[in-house]
Amino acid sequence: MLLVTEMTARRAFVPSPNIAQLKESATIAVSTRAKALRAAGRQVIDLGAGEPDFDTPEYIRRAAQRAIDAGATRYTATEGILPLREAITSLVNADYRGDDPITPGEVVVSNGSKQSLFNACFLLFGPGDEVLIPTPSWTSYYEMVGLARAEPVPVHGDPANGLKVDAEMLAAAATPATKGIMLNSPCNPTGAMYDRAELEAILSLADERGWWVISDEIYRRITYGSVSASVMELVGARDRLILVDGVAKAYAMTGWRIGWTVAPRQVARAMGALQSHTTSNAAAVSQHAALAAITNREAAEPAIAHMVGEFHRRRDAALAVLAEEPRIGVVPPDGAFYLFLDVSAMKGDAREGAGTVFAQHLLERHDVAVVPGAAFYTPNWVRLSYAAPLEQVVTGMRRVVAAFREMAS
Ligand code: GLU
Repeated sequence: MLLVTEMTARRAFVPSPNIAQLKESATIAVSTRAKALRAAGRQVIDLGAGEPDFDTPEYIRRAAQRAIDAGATRYTATEGILPLREAITSLVNADYRGDDPITPGEVVVSNGSKQSLFNACFLLFGPGDEVLIPTPSWTSYYEMVGLARAEPVPVHGDPANGLKVDAEMLAAAATPATKGIMLNSPCNPTGAMYDRAELEAILSLADERGWWVISDEIYRRITYGSVSASVMELVGARDRLILVDGVAKAYAMTGWRIGWTVAPRQVARAMGALQSHTTSNAAAVSQHAALAAITNREAAEPAIAHMVGEFHRRRDAALAVLAEEPRIGVVPPDGAFYLFLDVSAMKGDAREGAGTVFAQHLLERHDVAVVPGAAFYTPNWVRLSYAAPLEQVVTGMRRVVAAFREMAS
């Protein structure tokens, strides 16, 4: 006779329709693999993870220590502590041009902008809805829309314009079921930045059609030429707009998990309710750290300028190596810390895509981890992150060129 535990152990796991289509995050998978290989003794250069390699600036770490000692160890309001929401409100109001300034009741703090984005997709979209995703975009957008059981609609950008989309392309991809659009500038995975005119044209199309706009501005402070515009500077009405931001990238605070949304009040309320059943508040101490990060501008600005300056040097060094192999295409990067490379000139497996084959070869033979473009719906490309020490970026790029030459036709 079988024990009940033995009987249940034999049954296969049949996923619910909620996750039937779910794919694991390729960006996370690549860095997990790189870490595992390192732990096994391989000298892997990780250009996969989209994560600043700097320590969180000292003024933030000290503020967090003080917060712990002052008792920031309990639940907070689900939507986040009021001083943090007030500070976010002031930051955003400095950009906003409309006549209904943002109030703290429209801000919800979450466990990283990833949760903010998920909350937004889950609240706004559902079965039968289509959501336009300028492509390539960050891998999780497609999955988050799918988790809401809506349809992600990739809209491929123009290779002659940094793989960016324009209002016309979006209009051509729209149907009566289109419910919203995901924007991200500077863009992960390309580093391309939308200028004000491009954004304005997209925002006015969205306004005309009544689409929701979710604008992910997590890389806004990391640019190398002109300043990146926020949608808040460009809209009058914001009744269909959700701004997503956080401290992870500009303040080197990935592990603290603090992101936020600025959304119309009813949406913010619903988001608080959703979060009240899923995660409750973001970690109390992290909220205090984020509060210090964004309010102490005297310390923040030089810290950000230092990190952006370093990224800039690495970007230029990487591009200099890449210039030696003109058969590798690259999107001119205006911001973020990614290079998006077109490796279609090498012999690729048609099914898997050149990017996947190239990334595998690069990791297995040259110990460099990068993310295959298939994760961003562009299978002939790969994404490199130059958020790594300069010498590793340069060595990594030399190996990229060498690997490409081995595989090029
Ligand atoms: N957003 C970063 C990336 O694209 C971090 C990893 C992740 O959350 O996907 O690599």
